Amino acid sequence: MDPVGVATAPPEARPGPAWQSKCPWGAPKPTSISCSLADVMSEQLAKELQLEEENAAFPEVVAVAEGPFITGENTDTSSDLMLAQMLQMEFDREYDAQLRREEKKFNGDSKVSISFENYRKVHPFDSDSSEDEVDWQDTRHDPYRADKPTITPKKGFIGKGKDITTKHDEVVCGRKNTARMENFAPEFQVGDGIGMDLKLSNQVFNALKQHAYSEERRSARLHEKKEHSTAEKAVDPKTRLLLYKMVNAGMLETITGCISTGKESVVFHAYGGKSTNEDDKVIPPECAIKVFKTTLNEFKNRDKYIKDDYRFKDRFSKLNPRKIIRMWAEKEMHNLTRMQNAGIPCPQVVILKKHVLVMSFIGQDQVPAPKLKDVKLSSEDMKKAYYQILNMMQQLYKECNLVHADLSEYNMLWHDGKVWLIDVSQSVEPTHPHGLEFLFRDCRNVSQFFQKGGVTEALNERELFNAVSDLNIAADNEVDFQAEIEALEKVNEDHVQKHGKKVSAFPSDGDPPIYDK
Ligand code: ADP
Ligand code: MN
Repeated sequence: MDPVGVATAPPEARPGPAWQSKCPWGAPKPTSISCSLADVMSEQLAKELQLEEENAAFPEVVAVAEGPFITGENTDTSSDLMLAQMLQMEFDREYDAQLRREEKKFNGDSKVSISFENYRKVHPFDSDSSEDEVDWQDTRHDPYRADKPTITPKKGFIGKGKDITTKHDEVVCGRKNTARMENFAPEFQVGDGIGMDLKLSNQVFNALKQHAYSEERRSARLHEKKEHSTAEKAVDPKTRLLLYKMVNAGMLETITGCISTGKESVVFHAYGGKSTNEDDKVIPPECAIKVFKTTLNEFKNRDKYIKDDYRFKDRFSKLNPRKIIRMWAEKEMHNLTRMQNAGIPCPQVVILKKHVLVMSFIGQDQVPAPKLKDVKLSSEDMKKAYYQILNMMQQLYKECNLVHADLSEYNMLWHDGKVWLIDVSQSVEPTHPHGLEFLFRDCRNVSQFFQKGGVTEALNERELFNAVSDLNIAADNEVDFQAEIEALEKVNEDHVQKHGKKVSAFPSDGDPPIYDK
């Protein structure tokens, strides 16, 4: 590294107050005199060199005496370990500053930038390296050993008379140590000391070696931590494993990216692969993968959907939260299958694995079909869509024995000139203790959307409710209407109390609702 380049670093790129306040060796005065590791090292360790040599190689060396490390009360330079660490830390900071400049230059004004973060040495958020030092034990094979062992003569010394030098000779040993620095981990920046006639004492060398080792491990740990946290934003490791397995098995060709991130789920697009088992279900060319979030908070307020759903009632009480999430996925699968059987346009189930549901993709070439709320339909298409939805709601209720329970322009996609229903994990049977209230809410959303959208034929919510359910509630205002709905739900509850819960399981559990007189 060019020491001059480092010394002229712009002030903002140099370690700022955070470093100064954290410095365990006292707070150095903020100073405008820059100092590079190379300078300090040469001052400290090469002072035995002849002066002219020194001056020729490092002209700034005299100024170093005023440098940030050797000023004020901080004059104790007797500890080699401390000094070695200080030097290395300073060098790492310079290295990082240089890296930041390169990163900035590399990225320029580009909106998409490449981060050099992983190459950084100093991590200001985690300055606690002490735990590494504690568990340092040099009991393993020395990774820093020089490749070519320097030959020490058998007799242990060379030369004659007063020129005799042994392997313990300070200068020889110091040079050897400097050369061995090269064998530190490749990411460990040892500066330009190798090129000069630098003599490191054993003590300094060992301290540096130890420091190199702990820095390497600390750095690896930090990068690892970071990798996890960014990945976790999308899916947790267990989910990732599930997805990898699907790709590995060839069931999915590739997972291309995320289509939607909701409170309760993340949806990915994938290209379908080949069927993995003999039942030869053809995997659609494009798939949507709905991952139900295993962070549980959002699901807590959905309890009422599933807790009172007799299909899941028995299991609910015994389940841990993770299993409840899986139940949502399972529920969506069952409901989609029912809809599929009734011929309602909806995603086709491909496979369910734990909390991950793979289904056919509504859309093309990775572009999901737009939601009804986002698409501008001609008045003709709008009318067509309305009648289609009216029809689908009736089918859903009568043939599938389901109420969508989250029906709105957000969960209807426009694709291939028709409306597709999605997002049915919360759908319930009409006999659910709140099933009719959910249906009424669905009707209100649909009516309002199409009335606002200019479909004059659109029924109001009460008419729509009656058209879907055949319950013929006569009330002509919302309050009375809702009161009747709740009364009916009460009748149903009492019925269930008296006759016990239904026992049949899907698909034969589609008993007609008991509201009919
Ligand atoms: P939630 O609303 O609970 O997050 P959804 O099932 O509504 O989950 O999915 C979220 C979004 O993902 C949808 O609005 C839709 O844009 C997209 N999406 C979901 N399933 C599919 C599918 N099978 N094909 C295409 N897009 C889908
Ligand atoms: Mn949705």
